[in-house]
Amino acid sequence: MATQRTKKDYCWTCGSDQQHRQLTRKEEDWLKERLGRSGVGEFWLCVNVLDPDTGKQCRNLRTGFNKKPFAEPIKAPVLD
Ligand SMILES: [Zn+2]
Repeated sequence: MATQRTKKDYCWTCGSDQQHRQLTRKEEDWLKERLGRSGVGEFWLCVNVLDPDTGKQCRNLRTGFNKKPFAEPIKAPVLD
């Protein structure tokens, strides 16, 4: 299994630096559909835990260069 890459970067919906990870294949497929794009490799997902009781994560998307690539935040759904 490949090690998933992570990096710490600013999440504007959390308002602080948070750990982000690259998208899974399923999340990439979802985002391609959502944006109508063929490539989404530059996106990172915020894994900050918002609710410790449920483990719910922020899941806000940003790119490596742009902390706010969309006018409204896009948060990836939890995909099975
Ligand atoms: Zn966040």
